[in-house]
Amino acid sequence: MTIDLHTHSTASDGLDAPQELVRRAGTAGLAVVALTDHDTTAGIDAAAAALPRGLVLVPGAEISCYVQVDERRIALHVLAYLFDPAEPTFAAERAEVRRHRVTRARRMVELLHADGHPVRWERVSELAGGTVGRPHVAAAMVEAGLVPSMDAAFSRSWIGPGGPYHVGKQQPDVWRTLELIRAAGGVSVFAHPYASRRGVTVGPEVIERMAAAGLGGLEVDHPDHDDDERRRLRALAADLDLFTTGSSDYHGASKPQGLGAETTSRAAYERLVTTATGATPITG
Ligand code: AMP
Ligand code: FE
Ligand code: FE
Ligand code: ZN
Repeated sequence: MTIDLHTHSTASDGLDAPQELVRRAGTAGLAVVALTDHDTTAGIDAAAAALPRGLVLVPGAEISCYVQVDERRIALHVLAYLFDPAEPTFAAERAEVRRHRVTRARRMVELLHADGHPVRWERVSELAGGTVGRPHVAAAMVEAGLVPSMDAAFSRSWIGPGGPYHVGKQQPDVWRTLELIRAAGGVSVFAHPYASRRGVTVGPEVIERMAAAGLGGLEVDHPDHDDDERRRLRALAADLDLFTTGSSDYHGASKPQGLGAETTSRAAYERLVTTATGATPITG
């Protein structure tokens, strides 16, 4: 039973339309797929309407947030599953984050312009079918010939962490995020917690506090985790009684990992579903 609990569609920075994504998941032989676009549930209805027979869709979203550790603000992602998408407080927070993402992407384009780099906001906006992010700015930079690849755009010389054209996001802190998810009947899973290649990561003491604040699980098996990171996370999850998930973080052809590249156990999936009260999985 192949269960993949983290994927992105064109509703955020994935390359497949939601309909296409669930069709591919069916063809790939998945039993369960979660759609977890950045800060939005906009793709869920289209995915549900196109769901192949026998495939189960878990509605979700990947929420951008931060945690303050001493002088440092660390960005992190929390996967929210099976919450009520209409619950007004959480819905308003997602909308607010998306609004700020537009302002921030425009600001990155302005900074590039000011240095004579011709990236057009209109093109970035066209490339983004939903939640706007750095991948859309990066793709426009590649198209304009400023950089040879997405990876180059995400480097320290451009819009990567510490780069001259990088602009931070305005987003809720992790404590508010966990509370919003819980209050909307959802279950939260810390996405790629130890993915050090993405930037600064938190230590186990933050995860312990998150567990006390209602975190349900840890995404242990993720393409950006090496064996040692997975081992440490699995041990921590056992200590804190958190369930563990494995997921591809599929984004379409822009990233190497295919659907089902990492998977979640049936037991963990069942624990997730029985904990949630905001929504139920959708069966095709
Ligand atoms: P943002 O949330 O707008 O700061 O953009 C972060 C997103 O960029 C992440 O969710 C990744 O999916 C994507 N990303 C990060 N690094 C790369 C990369 N080297 N190539 C393509 N996409 C990337
Ligand atoms: Fe992404
Ligand atoms: Fe993420
Ligand atoms: Zn993701």
